[in-house]
Amino acid sequence: MEKRDYYEVLGLDKSDGPDEIKRAYRKMAMKYHPDRNPGDAEAEESFKEATEAYEVLKNAEKKNRYDQFGHAGLGQGQAGGFGGGGGFEGFDLSDALRAFMRDFGGRGGGGGMGGFEDLFGGGRRAGQVDNRGRDLQIRLKLTLEEIASGTKKKIKVKRLTTCKECSGHGSAPGSSRNSCPQCKGHGQVRRVSRSIFGQMVNVTTCNVCHGAGQIITTPCPVCHGEGRLRESAMINVDIPAGVAEGNYIPLDGQGDAGVRGGPEGDLIVVIEEKDHDHFTRQGNNIVCQMPISFIVAAIGGTIQVPGLESELSLDIPAGTQSGKVFKLKGKGIAHLRHRGHGDELVQVQVWTPRKLNSEEKKLFKSLSNSESFVPPKSSRSFFSRLRDTLGV
Ligand SMILES: [Zn+2]
Ligand SMILES: [Zn+2]
Repeated sequence: MEKRDYYEVLGLDKSDGPDEIKRAYRKMAMKYHPDRNPGDAEAEESFKEATEAYEVLKNAEKKNRYDQFGHAGLGQGQAGGFGGGGGFEGFDLSDALRAFMRDFGGRGGGGGMGGFEDLFGGGRRAGQVDNRGRDLQIRLKLTLEEIASGTKKKIKVKRLTTCKECSGHGSAPGSSRNSCPQCKGHGQVRRVSRSIFGQMVNVTTCNVCHGAGQIITTPCPVCHGEGRLRESAMINVDIPAGVAEGNYIPLDGQGDAGVRGGPEGDLIVVIEEKDHDHFTRQGNNIVCQMPISFIVAAIGGTIQVPGLESELSLDIPAGTQSGKVFKLKGKGIAHLRHRGHGDELVQVQVWTPRKLNSEEKKLFKSLSNSESFVPPKSSRSFFSRLRDTLGV
């Protein structure tokens, strides 16, 4: 398969600087990230391809070699960190995810939240002019039930929206606007610099007119020349089944409006999990503890246990020991990336009654000499048999 040009992959020009490269990659990565495209092999390929391009272009030395010699310049085994062969074939999804997490995903690659601040920064630095609207982050707490089946949510977002009075230009309607003296109306400033790597053309947004190319003479009375206003918007979000804490859903163009008609930022919905009354989550399995009477434990019976959708019946065989784990197949959380569900694991605890009346006491006393009620001697094998699949 013909390898695509890295600049083409990220939609970049050779003259684009580190900030543009980071921003372009970030956009691609958010669009094609596997968390957002469960089970989509094509998106996975695009994510890997974009990450590979970014890994080369963000590195000045590799970029220089690539600019001069193309893919051949990176050579066999020199692509650095892409696995043995150094080619695209060697760059698998986990490499790509790790590379993405390292630059955008926060500490240790565990899906930590801290990294989202980086994600929002998108490579913008203080003082740099950029007319794209800010990305906004919102945390969305979901119950296990909502996560298990997927859900639709309406979320309230405070964001900046384009002023309707002046259509974002910031000028009072009908007032005149003058061409910007700094950029001569282009909205951008080109700077040419020479370095040992050759001539570099750097294009930045004009910092006088913020890219509009025009200067306001009379500010808009509604937005006072800002071109944007604060609003509260209700936004619908579709949450696929099986998401987990730290997954995020990017909503393109739902962030702050851009400055002077610049592009909108994105809204990033970060998933959080609410604690559940009965269950803890282990991957897509849910686990609960269930007390049972020692009569049921001894002679068997059917008990009702909580489930994510409704109560479930569980058959307890005679002679069940405390700590035994029962599996209710497919009653857990839906898998995000493939078909099927996790399981519900119920660990039973034999419950000893605390108060007995004299009648009951007499009944137990009469049984106490029966051979079947004498527990085995303490032994390692007896207790290790009790240890079950919970992995504790
Ligand atoms: Zn200007
Ligand atoms: Zn206005």
